[in-house]
Amino acid sequence: MPEACVVEDLLREAGIERREARMLLAQASDVAEASIAAFPERLIDAHAAARFRDWARRRSDGEPFAYIVGWREFYGRSFKVTPAVLIPRPETELLVERTIQCAQGLPRPRIVDLGTGSGAIALTLACELPLAQITAIDASRSALEVAAFNGHTLAPGRIEWLESDWFAGLGGRLFDLIVANPPYVTAGDAHLACGDLRFEPQAALVGGDDGMQCIDTIVAAAPAHLVRGGWLLLEHGFDQGAPVRACLAATGFESIATWRDLAGQERVSGGRRPAI
Ligand code: GLN
Repeated sequence: MPEACVVEDLLREAGIERREARMLLAQASDVAEASIAAFPERLIDAHAAARFRDWARRRSDGEPFAYIVGWREFYGRSFKVTPAVLIPRPETELLVERTIQCAQGLPRPRIVDLGTGSGAIALTLACELPLAQITAIDASRSALEVAAFNGHTLAPGRIEWLESDWFAGLGGRLFDLIVANPPYVTAGDAHLACGDLRFEPQAALVGGDDGMQCIDTIVAAAPAHLVRGGWLLLEHGFDQGAPVRACLAATGFESIATWRDLAGQERVSGGRRPAI
């Protein structure tokens, strides 16, 4: 008969950073993290202890925390994540904030989220903008399955999910706002061999040799899918503000701007299709 285990022993044996070990144990045992921290002598049942040991081993092998527990918080809500989707990042909340700002004054904004992944952007917008009409596309069917699951939990019936290679499946449809967190990491970037990125879908991360390939494609096609005065907002790498602004300007966008994330890095840029 497997036996219950003491919290402190489990944490010590785990071989991973203590804060992460506490969070994993909380998830594995359904005991509050505060209680785990406050009562190191507490007993964890054998089943939960076995699950924790498995998770801690995977974590010490480098697997992302979010994939192990199966979810990640974004903008105050929980999103299911699997290795089919990028793990939502806090800096992407800036893209959501700017989009909400740009949608002010539009009674029923039509918004498309390109490369939706887990659906974090599209679904957060659906929750924050109750009257918005939102379409979300992704080229990956397995990503769309994760997004649809999240849609069912967070905003049932609110999003039109489409399998599409960028705008290809959208015909001649027009939107008030186009938003995207496209793949923008440079092929061969050393970061791809570090941390969570090793386990994430490369197709969601890598934007060609200069990281700009998907951004260029989206900017070029966006005017044909924007109403006059409509906004295109893109997340990009910390060093891509200037090339993204140049690309937007060369395509005829106006009111071009860049916003910095909480780390002070240029992270989101956008512009408007001219009103006349
Ligand atoms: N922000 C991610 C990273 O560099 C990349 C996300 C993306 O390519 N869209 O870790």
